[in-house]
Amino acid sequence: MSDFRRPETIEEYYENFAQIKPLMNATAAYYESSRCLFCYDAPCVTACPTGIDIPLFIRQIGTGNVTGAARTIYSSNYFGHTCGKVCPTEVLCEGACVYNHQDVKPIEIGRLQSFASTEALSKGERLFIRMPATEMKVAVIGAGPAGIACACELSALGHHVEIFEAKSRPSGLALHGTAPYKITNQEVLDEVTFLQEQLGFQIHYNQPIDTIREWKDLDSAFDAVFLGIGLGETRKAGIPGEDMKGCIGATEFIEGLKTSPLETWVGKQVIVVGGGNTAMDACSESARMGADVILLYRRDKDSMSAYHFEYDMIRDAGARAMFNTVVIEIRGNEKVREVVCSKTIVDNGNLSIAPDSSFILPCDMVIKATGQEKQTSLLDLFDIQYDGKGCIVTDEYHRCGETKYFAGGDAVNGGAEVVNACAEGKAAAQSINRYLLKEK
Ligand code: SF4
Repeated sequence: MSDFRRPETIEEYYENFAQIKPLMNATAAYYESSRCLFCYDAPCVTACPTGIDIPLFIRQIGTGNVTGAARTIYSSNYFGHTCGKVCPTEVLCEGACVYNHQDVKPIEIGRLQSFASTEALSKGERLFIRMPATEMKVAVIGAGPAGIACACELSALGHHVEIFEAKSRPSGLALHGTAPYKITNQEVLDEVTFLQEQLGFQIHYNQPIDTIREWKDLDSAFDAVFLGIGLGETRKAGIPGEDMKGCIGATEFIEGLKTSPLETWVGKQVIVVGGGNTAMDACSESARMGADVILLYRRDKDSMSAYHFEYDMIRDAGARAMFNTVVIEIRGNEKVREVVCSKTIVDNGNLSIAPDSSFILPCDMVIKATGQEKQTSLLDLFDIQYDGKGCIVTDEYHRCGETKYFAGGDAVNGGAEVVNACAEGKAAAQSINRYLLKEK
């Protein structure tokens, strides 16, 4: 059973979704920074996809130079605040901290990062310098973390940047797909406003580029284009009955809860199908909405791609898990009533259904965390290649062949962390800059 009562007011919702990494006060931050050993060749820096100089910003916090700390963070990662809160620090910087070898709690790098970035954001500190304006124009498709990081870097280099975003708000999955107990919507939006005010790029909202005409107009109006188009909706799982009312994709469920928490319907008995971090988020969130949640995964626990700490979190929220179990049918009378499951056998990595093992689990909601569609339509107009999984193919400089198109983030890597998208967007911007200077 869930450990949470179903929230009926927004206050109760916020109580159930309280931040798991609350903001440190100054005393706690100074104390925590004093524990850092300021390691030479610090492993925490190597483990950060954006390469933030972690010992430097921690030292700056310790000496009272919090603005300097924020400048250090943002000089490597334009989403310094968001990443401090949503990064899986347990397996990145904090997981690499040398204290782990001594059985001592690693430095709370993520919370220190949030401390410094919160100070900078709340005071509107000016952290960025723009180079003199060039004549070059770059279009960015998608205002997710990759697109915005790319726009920030290109703007800092003096180029004119316009972002075209299909939704009405920025930040892609950082806003719509991140669990509310990791970061609030307002924090994500405030960081984008902070960046936009200092770097001056434009975002056109509710403007999908999805017709041949729109693509061609864009192609002729801009000197280079960055594709930060991310992933699409949850793909079909091929389970009979999955179109029934009460069966929903995890991405759509998480987005609904993030944007309209009290209006989003959540069943009383929820089955979540999948073994990745999105499945864990769907479990944690529906359990926090008071549902009785069972996670079903077709292989064993150690085969899940989800981080262990994310799995621990769903257990802490009261969700249960059944491994080596598949859903073979979703049943109901227009609306989900039960799932028919079978046990699986894994032999030499091959999965098969165990004979005579089927059983029924009653439920009123099924959440499928079975991967997202790739968005591949129309890009072949410009000779952009895809691999067998539908991911955009780029060279090591994030360029799509010999075209003026560059790409990064989930559309290229198939779905990774926000911090990976930030790193790729910024690196692509530096390649676009070199391309513009050479070609134009
Ligand atoms: Fe500090 Fe840990 Fe990084 Fe060493 S590894 S610099 S102790 S945070």
